[in-house]
Amino acid sequence: MKNISLILAAVCLIYITGCKKNTTMVNPFFAEYATPFEVPPFDRIDTTHFQPAFEEGIKLQKNEIEAIINNADAPDFENTIYAFDRSGKFLTRVSYVFYNLNSANTNDQMQAIARNIDPVLTAHRDDIYLNDKLFERIKSVYHNRNEMKLDSQQLRVTEKYYRDFERRGANLSADKKETLRKLNTELSMLSLKFGENLLAETNKNFKLVIEDSADLEGLPDNIITSAAEAAKNAGVQGWVFKLDKPSMIPFLQYAKNRDLREKLYLGYLMRGNNGNANDNNEIVNQLVNLRIKKAKLLGYNSYAGYVIEDNMAKTPGNVYDFLMQLWKPALPNSKAEVAEMQKIIDREGGNFKLQPWDWWYYAEKVRKEKFDLDDSALRPYFSLAGVRDGMFMVANKLYGVTFTQRTDLPVYEKEVETFEVKEADGSPVGILYLDYFPRDGKGAGAWCTGFRSAVTENGKRIDPIVSIVCNFTKPTGDLPALLNWDEVTTLFHEFGHGLHSLFTQGNFYRTAGDVPNDYVELPSQIMENWAGDPQVIRSYARHYKTGETMPEELIEKIRKSGLFNQGFETVEYLAASLLDLDFHTVSDTLASSVGEFEKVSMDKIDLIDEILPRYRSTYFAHIFDGGYAAGYYVYIWAAVLDADAFNAFRESGDLYNPELAAKFRKYCLAEAGNDEGMIQYKKFRGKDPSVEPLLMRRGLK
Ligand SMILES: [Zn+2]
Repeated sequence: MKNISLILAAVCLIYITGCKKNTTMVNPFFAEYATPFEVPPFDRIDTTHFQPAFEEGIKLQKNEIEAIINNADAPDFENTIYAFDRSGKFLTRVSYVFYNLNSANTNDQMQAIARNIDPVLTAHRDDIYLNDKLFERIKSVYHNRNEMKLDSQQLRVTEKYYRDFERRGANLSADKKETLRKLNTELSMLSLKFGENLLAETNKNFKLVIEDSADLEGLPDNIITSAAEAAKNAGVQGWVFKLDKPSMIPFLQYAKNRDLREKLYLGYLMRGNNGNANDNNEIVNQLVNLRIKKAKLLGYNSYAGYVIEDNMAKTPGNVYDFLMQLWKPALPNSKAEVAEMQKIIDREGGNFKLQPWDWWYYAEKVRKEKFDLDDSALRPYFSLAGVRDGMFMVANKLYGVTFTQRTDLPVYEKEVETFEVKEADGSPVGILYLDYFPRDGKGAGAWCTGFRSAVTENGKRIDPIVSIVCNFTKPTGDLPALLNWDEVTTLFHEFGHGLHSLFTQGNFYRTAGDVPNDYVELPSQIMENWAGDPQVIRSYARHYKTGETMPEELIEKIRKSGLFNQGFETVEYLAASLLDLDFHTVSDTLASSVGEFEKVSMDKIDLIDEILPRYRSTYFAHIFDGGYAAGYYVYIWAAVLDADAFNAFRESGDLYNPELAAKFRKYCLAEAGNDEGMIQYKKFRGKDPSVEPLLMRRGLK
C-alpha cells in the first residue's frame, strides 16, 4: 500500500509572539506529536495555532484531491479509492483537537474561530463531493469493481464512497444538480425558521405567572425558588413557569392547582400552532413537500425510503412492522396506568376523568407509592472512582482488557484522567481520557469522542485515542464525587461507545467502526444492562466510607424503578416515531393540513386521549430542525438490540460468558463496519433480534 506521509516537518511555521522577549512558539500541528503514544500535545497547543493549521489542512487536502484527479493512470482502487480515503489526514487531526476542545473547554476566542472556520469547511466538503472529475474516477472504479480482484473490505469501501457521492446527487444532470442545490438551501432555511419559531414559542410567547402563593401548593422549595428567580428575570411580581421542560415538568408533577396545570400544558402543546408570527404549520407543510421532491429527484419513492435505505432497517415498511410489534403490547399497558391513576383520583374524591395535563401529577403519586428511588440513600455507594473501576472490571471480565492510569500524558485540563488500555497479553489497544466535571466552557450533557480513530496502515494498527466527557456531581469538601443513578448509567453508556472506538479494526477510515444511525446506540446501551444488573451492582457499589456492599433492598429499588411509567414512556415515544414515519412516507404531496394529518395518523393507531405524541408536529424539532427526519425510531430500535444482546448473556447463565463476549467484541464492536448492521448482529446472535427482552425489561409483558 502506498505510504502517504502528510506530516511535513519542512512546512513548520514559526510564530513570533508580540511580547518583548521574542519567544518563538512552534505550531505543534505542523510536526509529529512528540508525546507518549503521540497523543495531542495539549500543553503546547495555543488557540492561535488553529487557524493556520486549518488553512494548511485544507490546502493539503485540495492538493491531494488534485493529485488523484490528475493521475495519468487509469482509475484503480489504489490510486483513487485508497488515495481518497487517506486524503485530509492533516485536516482531520486538527479538527479532532479543535472541535473536541470547543465542546469540552471552549472560550470566546475558540468560538470565534469556529464561526470563522465552519463555513469554510462546509464549502471545502461541498467542493469535494461536487467535484465531477473526482466522481468520474470513483464511478469508474465502482463500475469495474468486480473485475478488479478486490477483497470484501475493498469492495465495501468502494461501494460506500460511490454511494456517498450518489446520495448527494453526483449522478444527476447539471440542471437537476442545480435544482437539488436550491432544494437543499430552501430546506435548511425552513428548518432554521422552524427552530427560531419554536424558540420564540417556548421562551418568549408564553409564561405562566403566579401571583397568589396558594397556587404554589405542592411544589418543592427549590422549584419555587427558581420560579421566583424566573419572575425576577422577567420583571414581574410572583413566580413564573415556562415551557422548557426543567420549568414545566416539576409544575405538572407537583402543582396541586389543576387549572394551572392545564393552562401550562396547553401552552406547551400549542407551540408553533397559535396562528401568530411564529406559527410552524405552513413550514412543516413546505418541509414535508420539499423533502418529497428531493427524494424523487434522487430516485426514491419517499423521503423515508431515502433515509432508511442506509440504516439497519432498510425500508420504511420494516420500521412500521417493528414499531407496531412494540405498540401492541405498550398500548394496553398505558391504559392500565390510566386506570391506576384514575383510582387515585376517585379515592381522593376528585370527581373528574384523568386528562393529559394530570398525567405527571398522578404518575408522581404512583412513583412515590411504588417506585421511590431516594438519591441521597444511593449516592454514598456510587463514588465516582468506584463506578469507574466497576466499569473497568466489567470490560476486563468480558474482554480481558486492562486500564492503567497514566500521569505523564498532556491533558487540556488538569482534572482529566488518562488511561492506557491493553489486551490481556499486554499488547496495546488505545488511550482513554475521562473528563468528568462541569466547568465554564464545557457544553451540557455527556458524550464520547476521540482524538484519533483506529485504522490499520501498512499492516500496523494505529491505536485510537478516545475521550469521554461528562457533567457529573463534583466532589465537595471532604466528600468524594458521589453519583446518582442517572450518572452511573450515563458513565457506563458513554464507556460503551468508548469500547466500540477502542476495539475498532479496519483498513479504511470510511468504513472502520462505521455503523448506521439505528445501530450507534447498541454498543453504549448494552453497557447500561451490566451497570444495573443486581449481580454486577453488588460487585462495584460499595459505601465510600465503610466499604460495605449496597443493601439488597436498595438494589431491588433500582431494579424496580426501571418499571415505572413505562406504558406512558413507550407509547408517547412510539406515537411520535410513527408520526415522523407517516410524514416522511407520503409519496405525493401532503394533501391535508398538518393538524388533520396528525389527527388521522394518531387515530389510525388508536392513541388514547390521555396521551399525546411526545412531540406534536409544530414542535417536533428532531425531525423538522434536526437530523432525525424519518429516524426518530432509532433509539428504540437500538434498545431492542441491546436488550436482546444482553439477554444472550443472561440466557447462557453467565453474565460474562467468554464465548459470547468474544463474538460480541468481534462482530458488533471491532468489525461492526465490515458489513451491514443486521448481518454483523446476526453473526453474534445467530438469529434475528427479538422485541421480547425489551418488553420484559420495561415490564410491558
Ligand atoms: Zn449514546
